[in-house]
Amino acid sequence: MTVQPIRLFGDPVLRTPAEPVVDFDKELRKLVEDLTETMRDQSGAGLAAPQIGVSLRVFTFDVDDVLGYMVNPVLEFPDEEEQDGPEGCLSIPGLYFDTKRRQNVIAKGFNVYGDPMQIVGTGLMSRCVQHETDHLDGVLFVDRLDRSARKEALRAIRSADWYDPSNPPQIKVSPHGSRGIFG
Ligand SMILES: [Zn+2]
Repeated sequence: MTVQPIRLFGDPVLRTPAEPVVDFDKELRKLVEDLTETMRDQSGAGLAAPQIGVSLRVFTFDVDDVLGYMVNPVLEFPDEEEQDGPEGCLSIPGLYFDTKRRQNVIAKGFNVYGDPMQIVGTGLMSRCVQHETDHLDGVLFVDRLDRSARKEALRAIRSADWYDPSNPPQIKVSPHGSRGIFG
């Protein structure tokens, strides 16, 4: 297992929709191991493959002492309940903004052997699953903020010491959600 460098805001791989996993092979198991190792090294609650430069639909999570991962996740929302609270991202280090998410989620996907699995998540787990699945669609949590908060977030990103001005920020609207869903 190897800790990989985290790609930061501005890196095009974070804006590229990731490809579905087709081969459930040794490479995939290695990817899950690298993601897990890197997430734990960074004390993250979750990590998506594009964040280590791999454009495949895989994420790991470590929420409330539950460690896991999912391949090719598809999200369903069992109700309309929302949550609002601070959210951060290892690709946008040091910055946290209140972000609205759905309170409950059912994520359906696969394990590394291609067997179906699902995560029934609430609260922080639900937030994590939504955040990581967004990454697989090239969406970052700052895209979910309302206009004024997003402006403030982009200003904070531009003045962050890690920010590289040769990669200008892009904003993208998620295919999963619209203002209708997320308020
Ligand atoms: Zn993130």
